[in-house]
Amino acid sequence: MPRFPTALDAAMRLRPDQPVYCFRPGVLAADIRAFRAAFRGKTAYAVKTNGEPMVLAVLAAEGVDSFDVASPAEFDAVRAAAPGAELLYMHPVKAQSDIRLALESYGIRTLALDHEDEVAKILRVVRAMDIDPGEITLYVRLATKSEAAYELSKKFGAAPGHAAELAQRIDGIGFRVGLAFHVGSQVEDPDAYDQALAIAAAVRRRAGVPIAGLDIGGGFPARYGREPGRKAPLPPPTEALLDEIQREVVEFGFGDVPLIAEPGRVIVARAFSVIVRVLLKKGQRVYINDGVWGSLSDSWTGKIPLPVRLMPDPARRRRTGNPAKIEPFRVCGATCDSVDILSRPFYLPESVDTGDWIEIGHIGAYSLGLRTHFNGFYPDTFVEVDEAFDLETADGLAEPAVSAG
Ligand SMILES: *Cc1c(COP(=O)(O)O)cnc(C)c1O
Repeated sequence: MPRFPTALDAAMRLRPDQPVYCFRPGVLAADIRAFRAAFRGKTAYAVKTNGEPMVLAVLAAEGVDSFDVASPAEFDAVRAAAPGAELLYMHPVKAQSDIRLALESYGIRTLALDHEDEVAKILRVVRAMDIDPGEITLYVRLATKSEAAYELSKKFGAAPGHAAELAQRIDGIGFRVGLAFHVGSQVEDPDAYDQALAIAAAVRRRAGVPIAGLDIGGGFPARYGREPGRKAPLPPPTEALLDEIQREVVEFGFGDVPLIAEPGRVIVARAFSVIVRVLLKKGQRVYINDGVWGSLSDSWTGKIPLPVRLMPDPARRRRTGNPAKIEPFRVCGATCDSVDILSRPFYLPESVDTGDWIEIGHIGAYSLGLRTHFNGFYPDTFVEVDEAFDLETADGLAEPAVSAG
């Protein structure tokens, strides 16, 4: 992979007409280290967030030995990067054949579920393979409520009464019982974890069975751009959020229970940016060579404002507009599809023009894995970059510097 000191160097040297991903292994290493230092339990990286081999390799080199996986392709990706790592199969609804593969070929002994039929599927394989159920921990996924950018309890999770019954059923068979929740993604309100812990404590009381582990899921927020004038407070820094959650874990009586977290976004968001080119500027719109069907769908569906920095093309002689004046530009994607328009504008200097480049920062999460070949476009060029994307100096980020802690 070609390597550059900064993304600007990459843009000026390559003058790319295709999107170029800037991977920052040093930033990824720093972010996983910071998370693990602040979290006292087991950190299982959520592979769906970004399962690229280059990402898994850095995490494995940093000593990450647990991964949250959801499919045979993810089992394989982790095996290739970290052969000895533990796989936690935390998808609540699995194909029978995938459960068999997980238990038989990958040695998986930790799974999640939210329904008795899933218990039956797992039990079928356990009986057929003659495994002692006591070797297996089944995590009951709890339904929770939150106001995350993505609210995932709409899809998964057992209500408290049902969860308690499931826990008793699982315990009765001889499996070890865990409790799990995942409050959503980009969860900016720490109360979401508080409420989920309250539910977990209630389910534990009601079930009255030994609890072998508590999995607090992912959802820890990464930092992105900000709409000018936005009133809501910034999400807390990861260390402060984890401190608060771990205090609440003890308050809710789980101080003696082994903890698991499944962070995704907060680990990998900062590790990538993408350099895109302005194919056309038309009034207050920019047409770029990436979009919703490329690497930017997370911003679209999650309504996440992305931090950007203009890299003007020095070959352009004549410009109009004030380079010091920041304006919102509607962002139209590369495909012919009329829904391929971002739900949030880019805040860019008024002087942005056709042929310029824009570096979009913090797009490591839910970008590469969600690219499609739609309309014949597929961004797939990578460079390595040393210097982090500097959020504080990004264009139009009317964001006050935050103090850590
Ligand atoms: C997607 C997912 C995660 C990771 O979520 P982030 O918001 O990226 O931290 C963790 N756990 C489960 C069960 C998930 O589905």
